[in-house]
Amino acid sequence: MIATKGYAVHNSKDKLAHWDFERRELGPKDVFIEIIFSGVCHSDIHQVRGEWGNSKYPMVPGHEIVGRITKVGTEVSKFQVGELAGIGCMVDSCRECNNCKGGHEQFCEKGQTVYTYNSVERDGITPTYGGYSNQIVCDEAFVVHVSEKLPLEGVAPLLCAGITTYSPLKRWKIGPGHKVAVLGLGGLGHMAVKFAVAFGAEVTVLSTSPSKEADARQLGTHKFCNTREISQVKELGNYFDFIVDTVSAPHDYDMYLKLLHTNGVMICVGIPPEPIQLTGFLLLGENRTITGSSIGGIEETQEMLDYCAEHNIVSDVEVININYINEAYERVMKSDVKYRFVIDVATL
Ligand code: NAP
Ligand code: ZN
Ligand code: ZN
Repeated sequence: MIATKGYAVHNSKDKLAHWDFERRELGPKDVFIEIIFSGVCHSDIHQVRGEWGNSKYPMVPGHEIVGRITKVGTEVSKFQVGELAGIGCMVDSCRECNNCKGGHEQFCEKGQTVYTYNSVERDGITPTYGGYSNQIVCDEAFVVHVSEKLPLEGVAPLLCAGITTYSPLKRWKIGPGHKVAVLGLGGLGHMAVKFAVAFGAEVTVLSTSPSKEADARQLGTHKFCNTREISQVKELGNYFDFIVDTVSAPHDYDMYLKLLHTNGVMICVGIPPEPIQLTGFLLLGENRTITGSSIGGIEETQEMLDYCAEHNIVSDVEVININYINEAYERVMKSDVKYRFVIDVATL
């Protein structure tokens, strides 16, 4: 086993603190990555605090991982020692079912999707531990190539916030001629804005934080709506083709459904812990659709990273020392992050 340093919680009330643990020895198809940066996703907070009811402790969070490969197993063909590499939300799956073969490993039909943390390996017992740690061992099939061209700290959040927003925008073929609203300008939201702008859509940010307007404009947003001002919201009635909802907390779905025009689609990527409530008539009216989207498969994650390298897209980040992590969580809870905290793992 390989001695590893990390930050963990041991129950839902715990603060994150140093924890030593072990990773498996390198198998023939595994690569060994020295982690350099690890992004802080709101999903980490939901899971650390047990908000989704599926938390396993001890938990080492982190699924926006970038680092350098320092060892490769004897049968590794995709990577070489010295290359940059990334790991997102998944580290394994059955690889045989239709969804796994079709590039949707997050929907493994055998239920064998192995998440990067708060999950168990395919043996059903070995816990997985995430990126708030100095190193990770992973099968090369779930590792992606990272360009040397982009600032690495800004690449880390692409591994979750990036793919989670890129994937539905692609699936719904969002582009020129579409009016798109991004609800919530946080980690996912600011990436949704960057991609929607890059794909040629007209983009509006719907935000509870008027202080973010200047940044939203900087990101290429065409309109900004302070959703605490009901008159501003009403002005956008029946306006949008798409709403990308990235909000992490309970909110008023009806209010936003009314902003979709005929055949408009609300894509939910935020995961508030409570069930969603909405009024049926608002869905029937205008034939509106409400749908969800879960991360993205490995192949599409690579496609997204290549697109970002080509178009110079990275996340806007605040790099932190790992001992700032508990404060960073508090700031994320107050929507006070511009726009992703990223841990400098060398501070571990
Ligand atoms: P984040 O950085 O905290 O951003 C969420 C944003 O939502 C905030 O910045 C804030 O934006 C807005 N917001 C927060 N509370 C609100 C409230 N009560 N009412 C209205 N707006 C509110 O979080 P994130 O990392 O982007 O993650 C967002 C959500 O997506 C989380 O639930 C996370 O678990 C989920 N997620 C889902 C997937 C997936 O596969 N679908 C992947 C990753 C994350 P404003 O200040 O602009 O209002
Ligand atoms: Zn995430
Ligand atoms: Zn499968």
